[in-house]
Amino acid sequence: MTPDTFRIEHRYLELPDSFYTVQPPKPVSGARVVCFNHKLADTMGFHVRNEQDWAGVGAGRELLEGMEPVAMKYTGHQFGMYNPELGDGRGLLLWETVGPDGTRWDWHLKGAGTTPYSRFGDGRAVLRSTIREYLCSEAMNGLGIATTRALFMVSATDPVRRESIETAATLMRVAHSHIRFGHFEFAAYHEGPNAIETLIEHVIALHYPHLIELPREQRHQRWFAEVVERTARLIADWQTVGFCHGVMNSDNMSIIGDTFDYGPYAFLDDFDAGFVCNHSDHEGRYAYNRQPQVGFTNCQYLANALLPAMGEDKVREGLKQYEAAYNQRFEQNMRDKLGLAEPEDNDLRLIMDTLTMLHEHSVDYTRFFRALSNLHRHGTSPVRDLFIDRSVADEWLERYEERLTRENRAHDEREYAMRGVNPKYILRNYLAQQVIMEAANGDYGPMKELIAVLEKPFDEQPEFEHYAALPPEWGKHLNISCSS
Ligand code: AMP
Ligand code: MG
Ligand code: MG
Repeated sequence: MTPDTFRIEHRYLELPDSFYTVQPPKPVSGARVVCFNHKLADTMGFHVRNEQDWAGVGAGRELLEGMEPVAMKYTGHQFGMYNPELGDGRGLLLWETVGPDGTRWDWHLKGAGTTPYSRFGDGRAVLRSTIREYLCSEAMNGLGIATTRALFMVSATDPVRRESIETAATLMRVAHSHIRFGHFEFAAYHEGPNAIETLIEHVIALHYPHLIELPREQRHQRWFAEVVERTARLIADWQTVGFCHGVMNSDNMSIIGDTFDYGPYAFLDDFDAGFVCNHSDHEGRYAYNRQPQVGFTNCQYLANALLPAMGEDKVREGLKQYEAAYNQRFEQNMRDKLGLAEPEDNDLRLIMDTLTMLHEHSVDYTRFFRALSNLHRHGTSPVRDLFIDRSVADEWLERYEERLTRENRAHDEREYAMRGVNPKYILRNYLAQQVIMEAANGDYGPMKELIAVLEKPFDEQPEFEHYAALPPEWGKHLNISCSS
């Protein structure tokens, strides 16, 4: 049943064998494909008539011709501490496929059983966390933010022990690359300069092909600078949409700048700058407002790992790109959100004052910008109603209207553009929680409906208006921890 519409490659196996362990999946029982991403399959170059045909592969029971499952070896800094014991502890890279459009996809089966890198873990993923990863991958993609994707998921009947007993599931996660910053840390601290060099060239050949022709030194320098820039831009995109990752360890940082590893993530409801979404993160190391700095710290970890192959001045040059790339992207995103097309020096001040106001008055972040995108169509009430103290809103609106007088676009033209960057629908934690509860009872309809809504987060979808509702009281402070 191997589709003949894409080419099978497994270029990861060209790396030295210290970078992986060959490891067959350990099957789950009672596997059923419960959600399949047909649009993504289409993009990847194949078509599926019967979803259940993929249950065997998703269960880890069946391998298609050409699949050679390996657990990837990497290490990394977790909460600031170097951990040499990491690697794919519950996921396996099955193969790489190249679609008719030339795009490469890694297929990674998450929840496929223990590997030599499982440490104390059971190699499994639970239904709850698998749904959360599926939802958020597709929500991020809908928002236009770089991310790994969800191809399909399988539910199983095996019990899995977490805080309570849950059931197993697996996710076929796909991405252009599954190589992390941590792969380079492994190469640097356990293998040596040749391994680093090999890994750099591998990543450039597959993911930065426009650099291949440059002379070696320039190629490496330019490549690292681009990794840093992509990382900075990704995190600027997170900040502007109110996304908290929750576990920004260097083994969760993608070398191509994708959002990677959805665990205890959250989108902000009320704007709270210091929000910590991971309940195991007692020190708030990965709080929302720390993410930009943590992104840089992770680039520094990567830089340290590259030193033996690249030399200090070159990595230093690369690191320098972070701040400028971050600021540039963040300011541009925020200007777009405010509908400001004619940049002014004072715009950053307005942006920061706006965020401070939203923080101080606990205003819903997504709602605020969406209401602002309809200011002249629907009037000021939807904005004012988000504030307990309306006079705060009035004062801010006066300043904003004054700023708009120096814009050249017509109101409706500006607001049309704003609705294209300020989502109406966002994956609030309570929405994820609701579809998880339905799915646990065997009904995946709500999950599929939510995914369909989040695929088009900028569109008005009148029949799904309720998905844009503020969180109910029970859904405001859900406990989400690392254990998944
Ligand atoms: P994470 O916190 O999700 O980034 O995971 C950190 C490391 O723990 C990775 O090496 C994972 O493969 C591993 N890991 C997480 N959960 C499990 C599990 N249930 N069984 C085995 N390894 C796991
Ligand atoms: Mg991880
Ligand atoms: Mg994880």
